[in-house]
Amino acid sequence: MESAKDGTSSETFAGKTVLVTGSTSGIGLGIARRFAKAGANVVLNGFGPATEIETLRAQLAAENQVSVAYSPADMSKPEGVAELIGKAVAEFGRLDILVNNAGIQYVAPLAEFPPAKWDQIIAINLSAVFHTTRLALPLMRSHGWGRIINVASAHGLVGSPFKSAYVAAKHGVLGLTKVTALETAEENITCNAICPGYVFTPLVEAQIEAQSKAHGVARESVVRDILLAQQPNKRFGSVEEIGEICAFLASSAAAGITGASLAVDGGWTAH
Ligand code: NAD
Repeated sequence: MESAKDGTSSETFAGKTVLVTGSTSGIGLGIARRFAKAGANVVLNGFGPATEIETLRAQLAAENQVSVAYSPADMSKPEGVAELIGKAVAEFGRLDILVNNAGIQYVAPLAEFPPAKWDQIIAINLSAVFHTTRLALPLMRSHGWGRIINVASAHGLVGSPFKSAYVAAKHGVLGLTKVTALETAEENITCNAICPGYVFTPLVEAQIEAQSKAHGVARESVVRDILLAQQPNKRFGSVEEIGEICAFLASSAAAGITGASLAVDGGWTAH
């Protein structure tokens, strides 16, 4: 593996197909961009206005001279997952790198947590990872190579109040990551989880604005004292950093890393 001047890996993924669930915005889009830049064909997935997504899809393809497909399949449903994996096969005939990124959050005290929200979060944040993995493994095995990267969270390693479903789902993802790694350990397939702390996305930007207005405090104190209270390095991770870590985990240098849970949280879980 060569090292590029900017310190990023320059390993190419030309000829490989990467599928990133929940990649129409935020972290998933950052990961999809990173793999497209490295020459992979990409399957985008997620929700949003059709015209915006089509513009995004076409730009990603043109800028990187790769093919980019899109599926609006709903990861809360096993049929949706099957449709998405089917799209990768129909468009590219293979699936080499699977990034399970789609996820949602809901915050409420446990006794008041709506059961329907619990079910939805477990379905998208945990069960979808089982369903994509279940369907991707035979495709990876047919080429004797594969990479599965599960975007968990610092909340896969520690809890926080009011986030029962999210924390349970993300802890579950780490367990599933270990089992997947053990079952594929001799097959050139690796499965790892990354556990980000707060990452700067459009949603986080909106939260900063809203809290700054609601509490009448400066943007900097919302960031430092509220959002990043648990994060010792006092800065957000970036989607580019997460993309880079995914590219590393998919690279040949990381062939021996499997079943790992990699904290990318500025020291949060070192407490
Ligand atoms: P986001 O809301 O910006 O993006 C989520 C993506 O998932 C979007 O593309 C959305 O359309 C898609 N999605 C939502 N429900 C879906 C469904 N049912 N089917 C298909 N797609 C669906 O969120 P984000 O901050 O980029 O988070 C991405 C992942 O990273 C999540 O798993 C989240 O738990 C995790 N994470 C985020 C942070 C953070 O600070 N942003 C920190 C740790 C972990």
